[in-house]
Amino acid sequence: DDCCAAPLPVLGRDVLVPLVTGGEVGYAALDYAASTPALQRVWDDVAAYAPYYGSVHRGAGYLSQLSTDLFENSRAAVAEFLGCRPGDQVVFTRSTTDSLNLLAAVLPADCQVFVFETEHHASLLPWRDAQVTYLNAPRSPQQAVETLDRALADREPYGPALVCVTGASNVTGELWPVRELAAAAHAHGARIVLDAAQLAPHHPVDIAGLDVDWVAFSGHKLYAPFGSGVLAGRSDWLQDAEPYLAGGGASRKVARRTDGGVDVEWHTTAARHEAGSPNVIGAYAVASACKALTEAGFDTLIAREQHLIAKVREGLAEVPEVRVLSLFGDDAPRVGVISFVVDGWNSSHFAAALSAEYGIGVRDGLFCAHPLVRTLLGSDAAAPGECGAPDAAPGEKSLNAIRVSFGAGTPDEHVERFVAAVG
Ligand code: PMP
Repeated sequence: DDCCAAPLPVLGRDVLVPLVTGGEVGYAALDYAASTPALQRVWDDVAAYAPYYGSVHRGAGYLSQLSTDLFENSRAAVAEFLGCRPGDQVVFTRSTTDSLNLLAAVLPADCQVFVFETEHHASLLPWRDAQVTYLNAPRSPQQAVETLDRALADREPYGPALVCVTGASNVTGELWPVRELAAAAHAHGARIVLDAAQLAPHHPVDIAGLDVDWVAFSGHKLYAPFGSGVLAGRSDWLQDAEPYLAGGGASRKVARRTDGGVDVEWHTTAARHEAGSPNVIGAYAVASACKALTEAGFDTLIAREQHLIAKVREGLAEVPEVRVLSLFGDDAPRVGVISFVVDGWNSSHFAAALSAEYGIGVRDGLFCAHPLVRTLLGSDAAAPGECGAPDAAPGEKSLNAIRVSFGAGTPDEHVERFVAAVG
């Protein structure tokens, strides 16, 4: 590697891929936006803890006590990673999708929701359709703020409102003006939740500094692939609502009533929405990843990632048939997530060839952001299948795209191999 700092050690670097052309090659994981490999450090932490695994909040034994401490310390580590304010809650969930569905479930009954059509389906779909105002795709960060500002100014009546916005696009990698959008939301008395699934792995997320009300992210996109996600932020709506899941752990006191029914007193902490035995390994892995990224230093990680982004973009710019997809233009700040189409190629076939001939793992399709990708491709095709896309015949206009994405574990060789393969 010829740049800045070495990549962080991750699992999977030694996996060999059989090639159709014969022989085998080390797997080049260039689909970090879907799931990142585990950091070696996360794996080591999990392995060191595994013998001590026990039930959380449910046992008097030593291992149960230890696991409970570990779970609660993990919550504190995530709060520190996100720069949470006093009184903020950190709820462990299964994923970003789960986190946003949890928030949707606790909204006040008359809450209006504002969401750009460009969002990932996890941000676009959890809300009840009747309460949502879908905002058209902006063509600059400034236009995003103006669009939101206008939509909020128009709303009637002034009941509770929530804005849901991504920090970094899972399609274009472009950064959204979160701080400005939060200011616009608050100026109109609305709240804002940040979908940080693609932002948190690449940039520090400071909930207080950005002045967002909630942040959601996934462990498996943050080098901790153990089934855990996070919803962090203001506690009032979370505490006022019925539990997202009803069951043990969420309930403080349950008693039969004289009329035969049951009275339940729910917890007012994060446990209110964490019924059932929690995923302590997943939570611990997320906390371990948060610490590892903080220790590596986001300045260092960003410098390395920008170097890789420049390599990929310069390489793609050399190929006349390639069109890189962008909402905000070439100069927009971005993370290591780049989508493109290749003239004369079906994107699915192109991605399959990168795998079969070069051992490179990318993604093709509409990336669970159908309205955005259709806008970017200038196509109104219907896409069958979950997050899938129809085949275009070779030579036809693309109905789907190819996405290359990378991060803290990516060596230069992987992006160099990719650039050589596309060229
Ligand atoms: N939001 C964005 C921006 C994403 O990229 C993703 C995952 N592709 C999600 C939400 C959903 O994350 P998960 O599948 O972990 O729930």
